[in-house]
Amino acid sequence: MVAANSGSSPPFTFYFLLFTFYFLLYSCLNMKVADCIFCKITAGEIPATRVFEDDVCLAFNDLSPQAPTHILIIPRDHVDSLDTADGGNKESLGHLLLTAAEIAREKGFADDGYRVVINTNADGGQTVFHLHVHLLAGRPFVFPPG
Ligand code: AMP
Ligand code: ZN
Repeated sequence: MVAANSGSSPPFTFYFLLFTFYFLLYSCLNMKVADCIFCKITAGEIPATRVFEDDVCLAFNDLSPQAPTHILIIPRDHVDSLDTADGGNKESLGHLLLTAAEIAREKGFADDGYRVVINTNADGGQTVFHLHVHLLAGRPFVFPPG
């Protein structure tokens, strides 16, 4: 007589643990996005002074400006940082940079000059983990930055 479950398929416990692992992983990732302050700005749940928006990105004034003009440009879709971006973000990344240049021209400081910064991870000074481009203008900037 052949006993039930004596074949080569893994036992129920294996599938249960696998399911639990993926469920927890999925929940953690979703919590991260749900807690993201820039996702909340995109969704209109947190106020921001918007200066530009289209179907790919949103630009708004930085809450703690480091120059007379300090604008943040973010993709609508959550990406943690430049470090986690991949080929799928190619168009969106190009779009963010071209949007920075467009805002600079429209606001009239392109000729004087401006600085575009993407802080990445701890040593890069990143504090908000939703990829963003800083667009700074209105004063001269030194290089290298501190
Ligand atoms: P980083 O340090 O490169 O991650 O930049 C995050 C930037 O987000 C900082 O310059 C903050 O001043 C800015 N910031 C944080 N919270 C808000 C907010 N609610 N509205 C606008 N800017 C914000
Ligand atoms: Zn986000």
